[in-house]
This record gives sequence, structure tokens and C-alpha cells, in this order.
Amino acid sequence: MIRRDILVIGGGPSGLCAAIAAAKSGATVLLVERSKYLGGQLVKQTHMFFGSEKQYASKRGIDIGKTLAEEVTSHENIKILTDTTALGIYEDGVVTLEQRKNQEEIYIKVRPKSIIVGTGALEKSLPFPNNDLPGIYGAGAVQTLMNEYLVKPGNRVLMVGAGNIGLIISYQLLQAGVEVAGIIDASSNIGGYLVHASKIRRSGVPILTGYTIVKAEGENHLEKATIAKVDQNWKPIPGTEKEMDVDVICISVGLTPSSAFFWQGGCDMEYVRELGGYVPKRNKYLQTTVENIYVAGDSAGIEEASSAMVEGSIAGLAASHDLGLVYEAYDQEMEELLQELQALRGGEKGGHVRKGYEKAGL
Ligand SMILES: Cc1cc2nc3c(=O)[nH]c(=O)nc-3n(C[C@H](O)[C@H](O)[C@H](O)COP(=O)(O)OP(=O)(O)OC[C@H]3O[C@@H](n4cnc5c(N)ncnc54)[C@H](O)[C@@H]3O)c2cc1C
Repeated sequence: MIRRDILVIGGGPSGLCAAIAAAKSGATVLLVERSKYLGGQLVKQTHMFFGSEKQYASKRGIDIGKTLAEEVTSHENIKILTDTTALGIYEDGVVTLEQRKNQEEIYIKVRPKSIIVGTGALEKSLPFPNNDLPGIYGAGAVQTLMNEYLVKPGNRVLMVGAGNIGLIISYQLLQAGVEVAGIIDASSNIGGYLVHASKIRRSGVPILTGYTIVKAEGENHLEKATIAKVDQNWKPIPGTEKEMDVDVICISVGLTPSSAFFWQGGCDMEYVRELGGYVPKRNKYLQTTVENIYVAGDSAGIEEASSAMVEGSIAGLAASHDLGLVYEAYDQEMEELLQELQALRGGEKGGHVRKGYEKAGL
């Protein structure tokens, strides 16, 4: 049985920042990450980030991940287990882990005083005929294949979804030498930043708004996609179908918070459309209704790495403070972090997220 003050589940930007903040304020931390590498989504992100300077704007995601991972690895208060998946939170306060080591699976029990969950998000999918043909992927899988395993997913891609993720991955596909036949989105607007959309259009890729995918066809793998215009209820309009010869359909229609641990832990949950699905109710210090469980990052609501990092730091400081550990700079640092988070959610684009957080607050 491992005993630590704080268990951080997930080694993405939120979990890494939570571990750093908790450790520097005096807590002993166990950080578990199911992948081989620390960094979460950042490991796959070769593009430069937007946001503010404090959250490493203009740096590539992959480099931000490395910087945070180095800081975590060098901290004596933090023990790290990679290749280790948290399996469950039990009523007696024990959390079980499964670690892969030399092709074996080892079960480990941890009894932390507090838990910070930073498990990120899950991809949403779309129902359409033959959507299980080989060649049809979620956007995250395409990014993992290309940027982590250096494998081209195919030769000619239809991207479904013109949010930031769809646009960025389309650009990365072009950089990898894959043809992008087009990007479609059922909405009448492009959801992602226009700077990304313009770059894609300049490369000759059409972005068709008001279109959806109707069906996929192929013998043993994807060979053809049919798309169609939609009416105001997003229903396909008969007679507007177009066929496209593609061997990959990449579905990028949004993410939903990974919420399993909050349900298991008995946290009060709320469905908040603006945040992507079910999220735990929490106070401004990211403490849920179960007093020793905290939330940070995309598992608190779908946003960006910049806010995930700030939330991680808030949850880390708060969890440590609530255990009675004394950190002199607590008041000042916490105030600064709360202000940073507010600034990141400012402006027109942050409007729907602000509304979502009001709904999820205690
Ligand atoms: C293509 C793309 C482009 C993006 N561009 C930007 C951008 O320019 N700027 C920006 O700010 N944001 C950007 N984002 C968003 C950003 O990557 C995410 O918001 C951010 O990574 C969320 O951080 P997180 O720590 O909450 O989750 P993640 O980064 O998803 O990390 C969660 C971690 O938890 C681990 N985990 C999950 N379950 C378990 C378990 N049971 N046990 C152990 N470990 C577990 C996962 O393996 C993962 O490493 C982009 C995202 C994508 C996909």
C-alpha cells in the first residue's frame, strides 16, 4: 500500500501543474499516468500555442509538455508512475492502480489523503452507416498515429468538424503529405479560429459549412464517403448528396469530459452542455462535493491547455492547503491564479465557457 498526501490521476497539463503546485506547498504527491510519457495531449501537439505568456503562448505544445515533465521529474516530493492506469476509487479511500511492467500487470493500492483528477476528455463520435469501416478514426487517433507513431493514416482524408481540433489536424495531415479532400461542418459557421481556417484554405482545402456525413462505403476498408447539405435542424436535404473518394474519414466533432472517477467517488454531477457533458459540481478552488476529491483540466469541462494548467495549479495549492500544510505564498499565488483563469475566460470566445462554469459552481 502506497501512502501519500495527494494522488494526482493523469499526467497531462492539468495533472502536471497540480503535482508541481501541491509538491511545492509541502505535500507528498503520487502522479499516475497511463501512457509511457508525461504531457497528455501536449505530446501530440506540434503547433505553437495561443494564450498568454504565462501559459507558454508561442511555444509548441510538445515543448510545453517537456518543460512541465522535467519540473515534475526533478521534484523530490513527487513520485511518478507512468504506464500506470488508475482503475477505481473505493469507499474506504483506497485507489487501485494497474501498472504494466515487462509485459506483466502489477496491481497497486494507494491510500491518499486527497485526490486530484485530471484525466482529460473522451472523443465524441457520429452515427452513420458503415462508421466502423477500417479508415474511419477519431481525430485524436489520427493525431496519435501521425505525431506519436509517425504513421500516415491514409492518403486522402475527409475531415468532419471545423473546430480548432479539426482545423489543426487537417493542417498537420497536409504537413505529413496526406491530401485533405475537404473539411465539412454541419454548423453554418466555422467553429475554430479563423487564422487556422485561412491557412487551410490557402493550401487549397475547401471548408464546406452546412454539410454532414451521410454514409461510408467500401469492401474491406473505406473507399467512399457521401456528404449532404443540412437543413436548419441539421437533417440531410435529399438531392444534395456528393460522393468523395477518400480512404480516411477523421471525425472531430467535440470532446466530453472524462467523468468516471467522479461518479465512482460519489461527487454531485451536473450536465452542462457548454462544458461538453457531465461534470462534477465544484467550488472556485476546484473542490468537488466530496471534500477530498478535486478536479482540473478537461475533466472539469472542455477548454484549453492554458486553462488546464491554471486549474491544475489551483487544485494542487488548494488540496495541499486543505490538508493543513502551511505555504507562506498561498494567499498571493491563489489570488493570482484565480485572476489568470478569469482573464483566460474573458472576451467573446470565453462567453459560453463562463456560462458553463456558472452552472457547474457550488
Ligand atoms: C489537436 C488539438 C489542438 C489543441 N490546441 C490547443 C492550443 O493551441 N492551445 C491550448 O491551450 N489548448 C489546445 N488544445 C487543448 C489541450 O490539449 C487540452 O485542453 C489539454 O491537453 C487538457 O489537459 P488535461 O490535463 O485536462 O487533459 P489531457 O491533456 O488529455 O491529459 C489527461 C491525461 O490523463 C491520462 N489518464 C486518463 N485516464 C487515466 C487513468 N485512469 N489513469 C491514469 N492516467 C489517465 C491520459 O493518458 C492523459 O495523459 C488542443 C487539443 C487538441 C486535441
